[in-house]
Amino acid sequence: MIVHLKTLVQKAIKNNFALGAFNTCNLEITQGIIKGAIKANSGAIIQVTPSSIKYASLPVLVSLFELLAKYQEKNIPLALHLDHGQTYQQTKDCIQAGFSSVMIDASDKSFKENINLTQKVVKYAHQKKVWVQAELGQVSKGKQGYQKLIKRPQDFLTDPDQAQEFVKKTKVDTLAVAIGNIHGSYKIKHGVPRLILSHLKEIQKKINLPLVLHGASGVSQIQLKKALDLGIKIVNIDTEIRMAWRSGVESCLRNKEEYDPRKILAPAIENISEVVYKKIKFLKQK
Ligand SMILES: [Zn+2]
Repeated sequence: MIVHLKTLVQKAIKNNFALGAFNTCNLEITQGIIKGAIKANSGAIIQVTPSSIKYASLPVLVSLFELLAKYQEKNIPLALHLDHGQTYQQTKDCIQAGFSSVMIDASDKSFKENINLTQKVVKYAHQKKVWVQAELGQVSKGKQGYQKLIKRPQDFLTDPDQAQEFVKKTKVDTLAVAIGNIHGSYKIKHGVPRLILSHLKEIQKKINLPLVLHGASGVSQIQLKKALDLGIKIVNIDTEIRMAWRSGVESCLRNKEEYDPRKILAPAIENISEVVYKKIKFLKQK
């Protein structure tokens, strides 16, 4: 069943749990995510980035989502979201294609420019009853980002006072925060930085909005649980899905004779569904 992201978030708030938002770029990953959500008997957010759209095209990704969400074996509620939209046009294209939520990530721009672009996206999105997520502070990625974050985490953090002003001026529906979190797999090999939970608490004091944790792959369960208690309502998982995909494909390719793509990709779907199932189960624990 396709639902508005708002429906999932409101239910999560009411029942005091958090949602997993899982990234896809193709058929099998979408299948894996839905399979995991069905097993957990719970709704989920499925999201795509502009680079995934470039890879598979917007109509294809939307059709995959809509058909798989509609013809699944249960009636699990699923919402489609644009992750890290960079331009007004990208968000507009996704809204017109049927997304119920879009992210405009202008966090690399000045505070003023971030406000201006986000306001523009919100104005259009809200006319169409679509939710908007923005980002304040810097959720970095890669080796360089990691090294800088380890050295000076304070340079990356979401400023609580700015967050208050930003939310008031833009009227965004959800906000991605920087609290020591970082994207990508580099951290998983080199030590996942600790979330700065005291800072999250300061942000939570200033704004009453569902907060989003990007780069949540690899974050310890203890830290994640504390973050959930401090207002994180959406937890983005991409790297863990990609790694599950890779290990699934690798396991099958050890059999050098195998050349049937369905057999090679089946363990990847299974692995992804396990990641999604376990993550949702954890996020729903009280
Ligand atoms: Zn992200």
